[in-house]
Amino acid sequence: MPQDRPLKGKTAIVTGSNSGIGLGVARALALQGADVVLNSFTDSADDHALAAGLAQETGAEVRYVKADMSKPEECRALVEQSGECHVLVNNAGIQHVAAVEKFPVEKWDAIVAINMSSAFHTTAAALPMMRRSGWGRVVNIASAHGLTASPYKSAYVAAKHGVVGLTKVIALETAREPITCNAVCPGYALTPIVEKQIPDQMETHGMRRDEVIEKVMLERQPSKEFVTVEQIGGTVAFLCSPAADQITGTTISVDGGWTAL
Ligand code: NAD
Repeated sequence: MPQDRPLKGKTAIVTGSNSGIGLGVARALALQGADVVLNSFTDSADDHALAAGLAQETGAEVRYVKADMSKPEECRALVEQSGECHVLVNNAGIQHVAAVEKFPVEKWDAIVAINMSSAFHTTAAALPMMRRSGWGRVVNIASAHGLTASPYKSAYVAAKHGVVGLTKVIALETAREPITCNAVCPGYALTPIVEKQIPDQMETHGMRRDEVIEKVMLERQPSKEFVTVEQIGGTVAFLCSPAADQITGTTISVDGGWTAL
C-alpha cells in the first residue's frame, strides 16, 4: 500500500460535509486516498459540483448523497446505500442559542436529533459493514461543548456531551475488534458560518475585525486563534492511522487550550 495514500481502498462517509469542518475532514481523508461520500440534507447542483471538484483535486472517488440527519431512516439509508463504510465521521450539526425557559421545543428536538441521535443511527448501520471488512474507524465531531458548558446553549451542550458518552459506549462494544471510536472536540473553528458573523459583530460592538475575533469570538480560547478545518481534518486522519490503533473511547481536544482553563 503506498504510504502517501494510506486509506486507498477504504470508503469514508462524512455527514454534513458540504461546508465547513465536514468538508475539511472529507478533503483530508480524500488526500489520504479514501473514497469519500459527501452529505447534507440538500440536493443542489452545487452539492454535486463540490463532489466533482474534490474528486478532481484529490484523485479520490467522491460522491454526494442527500440524506437528512434529523431523520433516523435517512441516517441509516445513507450508510446502507454507500455499500461500504470503513470510516464514519459524524459531523452534521446545528446550533441555536436561547435561555432554557425560552428555548423553542422544535429547536431542542432538531439539535438532539441532528447533533446526537444521527450518530447513533449511522453507527448502528456502519458497524456491521466495518466488521465484514475487518477494520473500522468511527470519529464523532463533538465540541469543546462536549466537555464544558456555556449558558444559552442547552440543547447543543447536552447533545455534544451525549455524543461523547456514545463514543465511549461504542468503543467498549468494539474493544476486541479492529474498530475504534473517538470524539474530536474542536474549539471555535473558522468555518464559513463563523466568517459570516464577523461583519455583524463588528457593527454590533463597534469593533475592528481583529478586536471582534480576539475579545468576542475567541474570549474563551486561550490561543486567541481559530482552529482551522485543516487541523481538524488532520486530527481525523491521524485517528485513521496505525499510530491510533489503540486510541479508542476518548476525546481529542483541538481547542487552543479552551478546556485547560
Ligand atoms: P457548518 O454549518 O459549516 O456545517 C454543518 C454541516 O452540517 C453543513 O454541511 C450542513 O449542511 C450540515 N447539516 C445541517 N443540518 C443537516 C441535516 N439535517 N442533515 C444533514 N446535514 C446537515 O458548521 P461547522 O462549523 O462546519 O460544524 C460542523 C460540526 O462541527 C458540527 O457538528 C458543529 O457542532 C461542530 N463544531 C463546530 C465548531 C465551530 O466553531 N465551527 C466548533 C466545535 C464543533
